[in-house]
Amino acid sequence: MVVGEVTVTPTEAIEGIVERAHQAYLAWREVPLHKRVEPMRRLKRLILKERHAIAELIAREQGKPYIEAMIVELFPPLDVSAFLMYEGVRLLQPRRVRSKNPFFSDRRSTYYFHPYGVWAVIAPWNYPFTIPMTQLMALVLSGNAALLKPSPLTPLIGAKVEDLFKRAGFPEGLVQIVQGGAPQGEAMLASPLVRGVIFTGSVPIGRRVAEQAAKTNKKVILELGGKDPAVVLADADLKHTAQGIAWAAMVNAGQTCASVERVYVERRIYEPFLNALREELAHIRLGHPMSQETDMGPVVARFQRERVQKHIEDACAQGGRILLGGRVREEIGELYHEPTLIADATDAMLGMQEETFGPLVMVQPVDSAEEAVRKANASAFGLTASIWTRDPRKAQRLAPLLECGSVSVNSHIVAYGDSYGVWGGFKDSGVGRTHGEFGLYELVQPQYVSEVYTGKPELWWYPYSERVHRITDWLMEFLAEPSLKLGGKTLRRLLPEMRYLTRHFSPLKMSGGFLRYLR
Ligand code: NAD
Repeated sequence: MVVGEVTVTPTEAIEGIVERAHQAYLAWREVPLHKRVEPMRRLKRLILKERHAIAELIAREQGKPYIEAMIVELFPPLDVSAFLMYEGVRLLQPRRVRSKNPFFSDRRSTYYFHPYGVWAVIAPWNYPFTIPMTQLMALVLSGNAALLKPSPLTPLIGAKVEDLFKRAGFPEGLVQIVQGGAPQGEAMLASPLVRGVIFTGSVPIGRRVAEQAAKTNKKVILELGGKDPAVVLADADLKHTAQGIAWAAMVNAGQTCASVERVYVERRIYEPFLNALREELAHIRLGHPMSQETDMGPVVARFQRERVQKHIEDACAQGGRILLGGRVREEIGELYHEPTLIADATDAMLGMQEETFGPLVMVQPVDSAEEAVRKANASAFGLTASIWTRDPRKAQRLAPLLECGSVSVNSHIVAYGDSYGVWGGFKDSGVGRTHGEFGLYELVQPQYVSEVYTGKPELWWYPYSERVHRITDWLMEFLAEPSLKLGGKTLRRLLPEMRYLTRHFSPLKMSGGFLRYLR
């Protein structure tokens, strides 16, 4: 069904678009932070005002149910805009450096946070609004400009994102759209004026993007695929766990980078858990994304449906038991795939190794929590994971053992929803971070400015002398292992050299510095 049409951006036009963005950036970076907040506030209000139309466009173009679009695509940008306007502005202010190094006690040092310039934001189709919108918000607040290239499967939502930035009153050219696929993405990356890229998508394309970006030394952030595990311990609340995993496995028809695809369950509760999960999944209603009766819409395209079918066939051939689903519901439409539950999954199955990215969840019994963690980590991916237990001590012991960017306990994918959370993966799931404090600092270049006005030459400047050798040696011993005892010894050694040292340092400040160094 045709939802609308857009014009593909000719690749020859991209250098001009980048140049306009660069000009916009040069003016925008001079705008003080508190002024950058004004269009951000208008953008937030526009999103709120137009939320129903935006959710409907997402439902029609991408296929997630309207209410799900409201929850997972509209909430995060609204929350992130609030985070940026309050916390973001604070985090980006110049900040004093509290150095304890005694050599630098007589000066003032400050961190400044500078934008990079123009960024390419290359986005996927599965969360076509929240992903680029939140990334662009953080980019512009921190003084950057950006070009958004949405997925060719969701170009209208991309166009809507650009339209919102324009109407919010951000300067002309600061956020522009480039419509198209790989050729347009590659043309953006070829430009030396593009100084950074946030790529969200698959692992192979992510690698390619990083290779291309390296040619002009761009900053690279990669948000890539996942194969998220859920670890279900024997003391878990079965109903709650089944409810949570059913949602986390099937949200957006399973087309979520962080959807639960592998479940490791302690053997003692294996069968009761399977029953509980089957019951929850059986209640999911497939249907048109605009219907209020729908829990799950279609997959985005045929290739998605085929990948799910391939993983199901492979699991069945290797002894997997289909407990629910398994079929495409042709009577609703060729892209409506049933929520599918496979029990007795083994490590060798494709669906336990490769990203399925569809409405399929596979469950495997394990003998202990340790075995579950080992299996959860035995993957090239490491986006997020969840632990399901009533025991906080167990959860807190196991969570740091999981090799992934975030862990939710008795829930899943919480880090994306909380604007204070950080988003990103270990291993093949990504490089760098978006969201929260750490995500914001990825978008700026910290600059260290050190000021001294004493007029004294540094101790380490020419000429080198026998005295400098001696003093350097004593100070090195103290700085490497500062202790009261060594401090006393160093002080006794330095006393006869005080007159010389005051040529280089203010004695009071340096003594204070030495005391602070005894941490
Ligand atoms: P994809 O890698 O096929 O495409 C992503 C984007 O890259 C699209 O805009 C595409 O047009 C563009 N692209 C393709 N070839 C390119 C090239 N050579 N140079 C530059 N750009 C190019 O991914 P997709 O199918 O759109 O999205 C699904 C994937 O994204 C899944 O693997 C999913 O796990 C991942 N994803 C990750 C996150 C995360 O936050 N970690 C979020 C959403 C999706």
